[in-house]
Amino acid sequence: MGGTFDPIHHGHLVAAEEARWQFGLDSVVFVPTGQPWQKPFGVTPAEDRYQMTLIATASNPAFTVSRLEIDHEGPTYTVDTLRRLRDQQDENTRLFFITGADAVLQILTWKEPDQVLALAEFIAATRPSFDLDRLVNQVPGAAGRVHRMDIPALAISSSDIRARVARGAPIQYLVPDGVARYIQQHGLYRTAPGPDPPAPPPGSGTQ
Ligand code: NAP
Repeated sequence: MGGTFDPIHHGHLVAAEEARWQFGLDSVVFVPTGQPWQKPFGVTPAEDRYQMTLIATASNPAFTVSRLEIDHEGPTYTVDTLRRLRDQQDENTRLFFITGADAVLQILTWKEPDQVLALAEFIAATRPSFDLDRLVNQVPGAAGRVHRMDIPALAISSSDIRARVARGAPIQYLVPDGVARYIQQHGLYRTAPGPDPPAPPPGSGTQ
């Protein structure tokens, strides 16, 4: 499962467990993104995002967290991550990349989109109203390789959690208790956040 996880919340965890169950996965590896060079607004240091992901996933024996992207110097691309994960697996292993549907809709702008879709099947976690057919209709190679998974708990969002912390609103029940404690102890998200940058339209260049 790929994501910035800034911070990880119960929507991500519900999505991971639902994917494990729906697709019969042996395990779910959380891969926090490394240097998010394509985001003009500040992102919390990778080590903090990694630690929060470790805390959030500790109680599920089927969940692990990978440092693959955060230990990588410079920009990270999903195609490289998938190649490295693929190299670690038996060739018959089916690899699924779970992430948010908004991110999946941008695949055409990613590095080597054809390879991305060839290396793994995608599980696009989304709120029930999301129109994923746009992707399957617009992206060659997406048909049969991208699976939609409705997760009502994804009404929870990292940007909302950051904004809540900045204005002193509670985040209890939105994130695991250990993550809320980590945010408090490390003073994360206390300053008012800038808006999330708009996602570039498909075809506007490689991210
Ligand atoms: P994002 O733009 O920060 O997030 C887009 C939307 O997807 C947000 O609503 C976000 O909600 C949601 N989301 C993100 N990760 C999710 C997850 N694991 N489960 C459910 N919803 C999720 O996207 P991002 O986090 O930066 O990137 C997502 C993945 O795409 C990462 O693995 C990243 O490396 C990959 N990516 C690759 C390239 C490339 O290879 N060139 C370019 C862009 C992204 P929350 O904010 O609540 O998480």
